[in-house]
Amino acid sequence: MNGMTPADPGDEIAAPHPYRLAARRSHAGDSAIDVGDRRMGGGHFALIAGPCAIETRDETIAIARVVRDAGATMLRGGAYKPRTSPYAFQGLGATGLQILSDARAETGLPIVTEVMDVREVEAVAAVSDMIQIGARNMQNYALLTEVGRTRVPVLIKRGLSSTIEELLMASEYVLKEGNAEVVLCERGIRTFETAYRFTLDLAAVPVLKSLSHLPVIVDPSHAAGRRDLVEPLALAAAAVGADGIIVEIHPDPDSAVCDGPQSLRCDDFARFAARVRQVADAARQPDLIAAAV
Ligand code: PEP
Ligand code: MN
Repeated sequence: MNGMTPADPGDEIAAPHPYRLAARRSHAGDSAIDVGDRRMGGGHFALIAGPCAIETRDETIAIARVVRDAGATMLRGGAYKPRTSPYAFQGLGATGLQILSDARAETGLPIVTEVMDVREVEAVAAVSDMIQIGARNMQNYALLTEVGRTRVPVLIKRGLSSTIEELLMASEYVLKEGNAEVVLCERGIRTFETAYRFTLDLAAVPVLKSLSHLPVIVDPSHAAGRRDLVEPLALAAAAVGADGIIVEIHPDPDSAVCDGPQSLRCDDFARFAARVRQVADAARQPDLIAAAV
């Protein structure tokens, strides 16, 4: 016995999918998630932006002002960074969380930040409006269970080599613990292609939305790894029906401690945000498109 008996043995036969709470049929319509005073999903498009890593207090607050002034929804930024090399900058940790909290106080923007370790869930949950589970931890079931026990909304990024079903199963771990506020994120998967960092699987957006009621957003920054591709991929994500996008921005990408090559320049962000909103609005109003052609 593993203690995991189904609530009703008949469920296993009746359920066509191994995920239950994430399945579209388990919820009336699309779910919308409230993060701070912002709403994501259910027709509300979210634009999330910020640096890859929290570097300094002044820089973070300057970036947060750019994000707020462009009318974006939320500030992102990593205090705990998953790095391929153990010798690379690992993030400011608790100091980074304090800086994010200061940036929220300064701008009113809700904040989303990554947690990588079960031992840090309490501290991250205490300051963040949304907790990010990064691609490398998408199948860290202990971590998913622990964030499921908080009542802070959770953003789950698709693993580099994970199927759509595995992403939905990851969300199920959070939902099963009673945390209903989950957002899924397509951020590119690893393929044979080397011209860009990962292959952005945009088909995953309509597929996830057909299988699940959960909001689905797209991260074109980590998918592309190249600044020049971020805007076209963001526009495509908005057009294909994503509930939002999450992008990296930096005042001086050449000096960024991580992911500079894929970071948009702060100076370009307001124009970028306006373009993405135009497409997102158009995608939400099919009648208008029909009238225009
Ligand atoms: C990030 O958002 O900074 C990040 C590390 O993303 P991912 O987990 O998708 O690589
Ligand atoms: Mn990054």
